[in-house]
Amino acid sequence: MKYPLSHSEVETIVIAAVARALDRGPEEIQLEGSLQEDYGAESLDLLEVIFNIEKACRVRLPKMTLMQHAKERFGEETLVTRGRLTQFGAQVLRQIRPEINPLEFHSGLSLQDVGRLANPQTFVRLVVRLLEAKEEALSRLQTDGCPKCGSHEICDSPTTAEFVCSKCQSIVLAPSGDVIVASDMAAMAEKFQSASAASLSNAN
Ligand SMILES: [Zn+2]
Repeated sequence: MKYPLSHSEVETIVIAAVARALDRGPEEIQLEGSLQEDYGAESLDLLEVIFNIEKACRVRLPKMTLMQHAKERFGEETLVTRGRLTQFGAQVLRQIRPEINPLEFHSGLSLQDVGRLANPQTFVRLVVRLLEAKEEALSRLQTDGCPKCGSHEICDSPTTAEFVCSKCQSIVLAPSGDVIVASDMAAMAEKFQSASAASLSNAN
């Protein structure tokens, strides 16, 4: 497929990656199906799904889960008590998993059930976001120039997730999935803070 990928091309790739890892036909996989419950995906299958997607889309998916990123940013105890979501935890998950029906996330939901909600659409949304961030990084790099030779002729590597300078052939690292997710999470935390500050000042 031609790069950059369209949204529907990403969907096709994700469906194919899931189908391949689970030995099924692509027609059996729905974007909204639960990876665990409907397709019986286990951790090893998911690693294969991730590998297939990374290769086909030329992105590096985050190594940490969205929940791990959220815990790092907001503090575990504000999100989860005794293995179950707090009110705030449910609110955060609705924001970071917009592909899931928001009603699914409520306080008291167990983390196991949170895991069960993961579907192919979760990967599609993540990949689309990473591709967008990658494009932004590339255009910044084209403006700033190659760190080694200063040339502005930098393009996507045709085989990996990285960038290549057409002049000196050096490889420039693209931002990793974890870096992008962490910075999105930081932006969200800021929004939460200003929203709660606004509601406090309204109350006064
Ligand atoms: Zn160069």
